Amino acid sequence: MKEALYYEKVNSKIRCYLCPHQCLIKENALGICGVRQNYGDKLITLNYGRYSSINLDPVEKKPLYHFYPGKNILSIGTIGCNFQCPFCQNWSISQVRKTRKKETKSITKEELIKIAIDLKEKGNIGIAYTYNEPFIWYEFVRDCAQFAKAEGLKNVLVTNGYVNLKPLEELLPYIDAVNIDIKSMREEFYLKLCKGKLEPVLKTCETAYKKCLIEITNLIIPNHNDQKEDFEKLVNWIIEHMGDDAPLHFSRYHPDYQFNETATPIETLSLAYKIAKEKLKYVYIGNILDDFGENTYCPNCGKMVIERSGFKVNQDNLNSQGMCNFCGYQILKF
Ligand code: SF4
Repeated sequence: MKEALYYEKVNSKIRCYLCPHQCLIKENALGICGVRQNYGDKLITLNYGRYSSINLDPVEKKPLYHFYPGKNILSIGTIGCNFQCPFCQNWSISQVRKTRKKETKSITKEELIKIAIDLKEKGNIGIAYTYNEPFIWYEFVRDCAQFAKAEGLKNVLVTNGYVNLKPLEELLPYIDAVNIDIKSMREEFYLKLCKGKLEPVLKTCETAYKKCLIEITNLIIPNHNDQKEDFEKLVNWIIEHMGDDAPLHFSRYHPDYQFNETATPIETLSLAYKIAKEKLKYVYIGNILDDFGENTYCPNCGKMVIERSGFKVNQDNLNSQGMCNFCGYQILKF
């Protein structure tokens, strides 16, 4: 339990300013995320130093395909989320207000950084805050990220992007790479399914793009965000607000939690890939048991520069500066 950042008292209630919900929280009650509580006249964070899962994962699993390909990253998550997506694949740790499952273990920032340093010999480059929404773990993430950076480790966020600008801008100086979900370009998708809004997510993408490496993930769900116009709108927005070099991952949906739509057809993923590839330099397909859409091709000479299978890098045709070995084109920008 630790006092939270970004709040103000409003009589006996508390207004939290960490994310765009800006919950007005009654005494002893929780915010929408389920992990910030109005307690004893203060807003406290219940998940500070509490984790639900920790693993050494391939960087590709985040997914990040343009950030130290083939390396590993110590990945850690807690509980809670500020979205309520009925298709969440990590619902047992994210939807704690509903599941009431709150089993976590304690860890200090010193312990976490020591584990990360010890794992360098196994190819670890740093720490990824992932599995559930890292922004609702803000205070612990910020403390760890500052410490990790000072120790020469990289910091990565895997996020829904639903955060207010001030906390985002105060965290970004410590962050090296982010993967942000743009779940749909339809406002009603966010309102109805995620119980949030689209615009703040897009603002997070634009802001992060100026400060660190960013890759975008779009989970394609049949009958909800799987039309040609959905893919065109997403691609056009990325080009206009970030640039044609921002990697885009289309991810295959599988039934989970409260959603039982059938898994995304391969034809739909192929259509999305084809549309995006006409305008973006780097497009990928994830969550399929196939090599399709996993490799990186040089936008200049067209040759394959990174060959992957699953989360494994089989072949890397980049030089030490991240340039194509065949033509010298700059592929990686870190
Ligand atoms: S972080 Fe949690 S408590 Fe704060 S505004 Fe967002 S959902 Fe509400």
